Amino acid sequence: MDLEFDQQHVWHPYTSTLHPLRCYPVTQASGVHLQLEDGRQLVDGMSSWWSAIHGYNHPTLNEAAKAQIDKMSHVMFGGITHQPAVELCRKLVNMTPDPLQHVFLADSGSVAVEVALKMALQYWHAKGEKRPKFLTVKHGYHGDTFAAMSVTDPNNSMHSLYKGFLPEHIFAESPRCGFFDEWDDADTTDFEQKLKAHSQDIAAVIIEPIVQGAGGMRIYHPQFLKRVRELCDHHGILLIADEIATGFGRTGKLFACEHANISPDIMCLGKALTGGYMTLSATLATRHVANTVCGGDAGCFMHGPTFMGNPLACAVANASLDILLQNQWQEQVKRIENQLADSLPALEKLDKVKAVRWLGAIGVVELHEPVQMESIQQTFVDNGVWIRPFGTLVYIMPPFIINQQELSQLTSAIHIALR
Ligand SMILES: *Cc1c(COP(=O)(O)O)cnc(C)c1O
Repeated sequence: MDLEFDQQHVWHPYTSTLHPLRCYPVTQASGVHLQLEDGRQLVDGMSSWWSAIHGYNHPTLNEAAKAQIDKMSHVMFGGITHQPAVELCRKLVNMTPDPLQHVFLADSGSVAVEVALKMALQYWHAKGEKRPKFLTVKHGYHGDTFAAMSVTDPNNSMHSLYKGFLPEHIFAESPRCGFFDEWDDADTTDFEQKLKAHSQDIAAVIIEPIVQGAGGMRIYHPQFLKRVRELCDHHGILLIADEIATGFGRTGKLFACEHANISPDIMCLGKALTGGYMTLSATLATRHVANTVCGGDAGCFMHGPTFMGNPLACAVANASLDILLQNQWQEQVKRIENQLADSLPALEKLDKVKAVRWLGAIGVVELHEPVQMESIQQTFVDNGVWIRPFGTLVYIMPPFIINQQELSQLTSAIHIALR
């Protein structure tokens, strides 16, 4: 592979053209392994950013993609429907909490969030109220497009760069009680105050249930989410659950909302939806939200991406959900969680380590200082694993199919890299 050309011309995520770091050329992937061009096999700790839950090159997913390609890869979704989309939406309606009855298919997680925010704004517009604000918590991550960025942590996403252009929303303190900590009622005080102070301006609360992903890998107490739902109900404010990272079993429940036994008014799904094969996302809404939106002046929901409901992506998503519905994920994720609980606490003794935490198939090591990216990445690759830290966070969320020995390889490599 021409890595020189890659460095000179190909813009990778969050990278500099002035100081382009070397990328590792991957030529194949299978199961939990990524294969480098020189033939080395790396155990994948990232699931390609939460998505490849069943592993790479899965025969059932491959088969679904091939079968669909021979029928049609794409057809417009305006005025046309097709079996892969109908089947997928039926599965999503059945899998998610009962009140969620309408599915809007979109292209990526960020777009699913844009769609959710637009639904909430149109909802209030239809009710004849002007509610231009969203309330969220610090350390959140909802995507890189503008509206999604406007509700993402202001420091992490550098809101200062876009001042005057980016809408300014309301950020409450993030949850402090960890998932396994004793609950402290004071945790929601700031959230509660902000919600009360702006209750007439707020269209919706948007939050990642239980696990805050790219904004800090924080795993919080279900009671926080329960309280958020109660407060939204009390003030008649919509609740948007961004399950893009947490959905489809990652936290040990099919959806993280289940840890708190709540149901949102709008739910965003993405990442693992196609088992990591293709980009596809979905925004689900209750019948009340959908019908209110469509009862307004516009008479419909004002959104429609060109590649909406892409049949190829829907077909693969259906196959991926069928694998999930066989329910092996529960045992797999539980086994990963138990092994993380056994192996991560030992890392806490290292000087560099500030804290460790885990839930389901997510393991996090937070450091006192940011990692030196180039050298730590090299150490991981030299030790046969693919782990990509950011800032002070070294974290893993492997494919659910990872076995005990492969998971040990991941945690040992973290140990070696931090020693
Ligand atoms: C990744 C992510 C997004 C954005 O999804 P993209 O597909 O990258 O646009 C939104 N919300 C959460 C919680 C995410 O983890």
